[in-house]
Amino acid sequence: MFNRRNFLKACAVGGVGAGFGGLYDTFYHLIPFNDRGRKALHHVYGNSDSPEWLRDKASGKLAPNPDWILRHTVDQQCHSECGLRVKIDRKTGRVQRILGNPYHSHSRLDYASTDTPLLATAATPGTVCARGNSGIQSAYDPYRITVPLKRKGARGSGQWQPISWEQLIKEVTDGGKIFADTGDAASKDLDVLGFKGLYAQRDQLMNPNAPELGHRTNGYVFEGGRIVGSRKAFALRFGLAFGSVNTYEHTNTCEVSHHVATSQVYPGKHMTKPDIMEAEFIIFWGTQPGDANFPMQTMAKYAAEARAKPGGLKYVVVDPLLGRGGVMGDRAAWLPLIPGTDGALALAMIGWIIENERYNADYLGHPTQKAAEAASELSHTDATHLVIDDPAHPQHGHFLTAKLAGFAAGAQESETDRIVIDATSKAPLQAVDSPRAVIDYTGTVNGIRVKSAFARLRESAATHTLQQYADICGIDSEKIVNLAREFTSHGRKAACEMYRGVCKHPNGYYNSVAVLLLNLLVGNMNWTGGLTAGGGGYNYKKGRYDVMAVPAAKGVAYGVKLSREEVHYEDSSEYKAKVAAGQNPYPAKRPWFPLSFDMFSEILPSAVQRYPYGVDILLWHMATPFYSVPGQGNQQLIDAVKDPKNIPLIIASDIIVGDTSMYADYIVPDGSFLERWSHIDTLPTTLTRGTGLRWPVVALTEKTPDGRHMCLEEFLIDVAKRVGMPGYGDNAIPDASGRMWPLHRKEDWYLKATANLAFTPGSEGDQVPDVTDSEKQVNDLGGVHDEFKSSLAAEEWPKVLSVLAKGGRMEPSRNARQGDRLTHRFTKTLHFYAEEVALARNSMSGEDFFGTTTWVEPTTALGTPLDKLDDPKDWPLTIITFKGALQSHSRLSSNYVLREIMPDNGIQVAVEDARRMDIKDGEKVWVVTPHGKRLGTARVVEGIRPGVITFNVGYGHWGYGATNYQLGGKRIEGDRVRRAGIHLNPIMRRDPDIDQMTLMDLAGGSVVFFNTRARIEKNNVHA
Ligand code: SF4
Repeated sequence: MFNRRNFLKACAVGGVGAGFGGLYDTFYHLIPFNDRGRKALHHVYGNSDSPEWLRDKASGKLAPNPDWILRHTVDQQCHSECGLRVKIDRKTGRVQRILGNPYHSHSRLDYASTDTPLLATAATPGTVCARGNSGIQSAYDPYRITVPLKRKGARGSGQWQPISWEQLIKEVTDGGKIFADTGDAASKDLDVLGFKGLYAQRDQLMNPNAPELGHRTNGYVFEGGRIVGSRKAFALRFGLAFGSVNTYEHTNTCEVSHHVATSQVYPGKHMTKPDIMEAEFIIFWGTQPGDANFPMQTMAKYAAEARAKPGGLKYVVVDPLLGRGGVMGDRAAWLPLIPGTDGALALAMIGWIIENERYNADYLGHPTQKAAEAASELSHTDATHLVIDDPAHPQHGHFLTAKLAGFAAGAQESETDRIVIDATSKAPLQAVDSPRAVIDYTGTVNGIRVKSAFARLRESAATHTLQQYADICGIDSEKIVNLAREFTSHGRKAACEMYRGVCKHPNGYYNSVAVLLLNLLVGNMNWTGGLTAGGGGYNYKKGRYDVMAVPAAKGVAYGVKLSREEVHYEDSSEYKAKVAAGQNPYPAKRPWFPLSFDMFSEILPSAVQRYPYGVDILLWHMATPFYSVPGQGNQQLIDAVKDPKNIPLIIASDIIVGDTSMYADYIVPDGSFLERWSHIDTLPTTLTRGTGLRWPVVALTEKTPDGRHMCLEEFLIDVAKRVGMPGYGDNAIPDASGRMWPLHRKEDWYLKATANLAFTPGSEGDQVPDVTDSEKQVNDLGGVHDEFKSSLAAEEWPKVLSVLAKGGRMEPSRNARQGDRLTHRFTKTLHFYAEEVALARNSMSGEDFFGTTTWVEPTTALGTPLDKLDDPKDWPLTIITFKGALQSHSRLSSNYVLREIMPDNGIQVAVEDARRMDIKDGEKVWVVTPHGKRLGTARVVEGIRPGVITFNVGYGHWGYGATNYQLGGKRIEGDRVRRAGIHLNPIMRRDPDIDQMTLMDLAGGSVVFFNTRARIEKNNVHA
């Protein structure tokens, strides 16, 4: 038998690889995780490495230690994407230590500008959090797969066979009876289409009766988990060149409703952030400094620094859970509201602020940016813009335009075409002609009933009294008033920050908008200490090369995505056919999501139900829907996915046999985050412009026959070339002069994207210098240049290597502010009223969505209130989740240094509840939901609202090295460390109205992680 200890030993001597037909010398790269029992190398310094820098005793000057290579890349131990300085043994090529990149804004407050010599940063590296620091163990995980695997036996039977790269590419591309050798009766005769067969149908419609569904090639679906920046662009480019619109990342499983709400209030922006360092007061809503958010460590540092300043930041955490950032005292407070009632609390505050005229009326009166700037304001809103408010009018819900208002021809149809009531003349005017307009207006213009956007919000907030809102959210009305008063007592230096706790409810979109609108009422956008949309990033897609262009593939990829997102059900042939047949078109078979994107949770159920069409090839990349999507790790859905008739070909791109990739037909070995490329813009906490560069600082997978390290990109390139797709091979990437460059290896593409980044013009002091000899030496860049010399024009290399040497490009931090104003400003119209939302419809109920926010009770898709669905008498507790600082994502389960600190997550129970249920801290208890039960360890804590229980996600794995499997006939034993703890996602509440759909926010698109009802039973009940 192969247990973990034997497995490690065998790997260490290369015995595992030798047993697999001599295909590769080794299958695994590993590190021994446990040094216990070994004698320390030095009696004082233990097993510490020598330092990265050496001080010359005579001169006192620092110099690089020649033993080490230092490379700067970007972390992916969470989505904060902080900059890293990676210390690599020059002799062995092995990573020894991870620090923060001092040139990256997420890793240092006063990050070094790109013209700062590397040596000058020796004593001031950046920071990483515990997760970032332990990333070495993600890369050198002993369960890493470094060669392609093919299933033996049935899908999910836990038996794998190593195969060659050539076999992998040939089988998945050419198709045919590729499972004849698996011994699986269900698939041995299955004739699989493969990429080539599907591509051959790129001119055929998916459904001739519904041409809007696009071509047959939409049957290829890329289901990405965590894939960001230019790596996502690379996958998207492949999909579009192939002819498929179905390239996804996981966003709706995270917090897409937050992004959708933000992009409605701040058009086109998915995230805004407070200027934490200069703010006087912040409400952290559904989040807190130090817990999951992005960038996590950066926000934690900012908040700690800002709080410690004399007269510095005060903040309040609004969340049922008091996490790490919930420091109490005179500068911080906690409001533990009932889960999912954030909108009620925010609307209560909005109502009080309006009633007591605590909003910034001067600011809100400017109908355009021009008018705002003339009055020394920095942004403007649609508060004064008139909306048609007459259900009988054909344009009900639209903004009133000049044409509808009867204005003379010649008016422009644009945002400035909207009509306002001018504050001086009290007459209707085009917004562009009015320097100041009436904020709160209800009346008639040209015979049409209208209301200003602000008036709509006021009325919406007034649908409940303060006390009613207080009862809904479980917060005393006095506390609500105090919070609203404090929030409106700091001028522009107050802001609301929000994250997943607000939005992952059936009413998440409306909750999120309500919180965001508080910012508009104080007019904090673009002010120092207020709110920012960030400095943005540099363009890596265009400039010297057009890395996204595939002209020959134009027009092939189009149509409705499998998840029916960004499209209205009412535009579908299905809807029209039902209406024509006199049928009620509602509800649709599964929801359509006109406002949302990346609807990851809908991929598997839609594929199995073939709605609106079936899937031929599913490519999972770092995707683990069975583990991560609430309610989807259930046996019924797993069995459906295991049936090859439902999805004939499933390929996983993964670094390990994961909790979901264990059900694939093939696994393509991928590089870890230390082996990948990606260009990633900094998050809006960074007030300046910045793009981090992740690039392979080590290479641990085996090589293809022509010497490329195996990974997702090389797989896509080789499939594309074998299929004969445009955009790959010899004539693939156009430069600015029209010359075509080849794409045979991933660097051919990523280096060109880096050249775009390096040569994008910047502001003053923001230019990329040429790389220096010292930087080349410390980063060991000579080999990079030599190996990939032909991928770029010669003159581009000095700047491209400079970007590699610094791990990206950042505008100097001194450019962040200009006195009381932020340098980078967001100047589009901020929306109290989202016309796009108001004109969209819920495809299940047939009701219109609301254009402004309102209090909406959480329900199922067809409107059953959750209290009626699961009676609180039987289910007295509500499960919420959190992502702690030490564990969250699957890959962290291999980080044994973190597991040693916190081996088990446990289920957190409030002291009051524990006393009532007679549960002791450390006692094993069952968490029971309407969909099943799980055993866990009770952790009795103070910082959680009674009636709520929670668990830190990332524990309780069944894959990812947690359980046994067969590899080439040998047994690989799972590790109990990775099995430890409780994971409740598989038993979270599914929506009874829709097959295999978790509870969802149908407006914003997020899955629901915070509304499953449960009870706790003592272990002896089920013993
Ligand atoms: S917050 Fe920590 S884990 Fe996340 S990217 Fe930054 S250093 Fe890495």
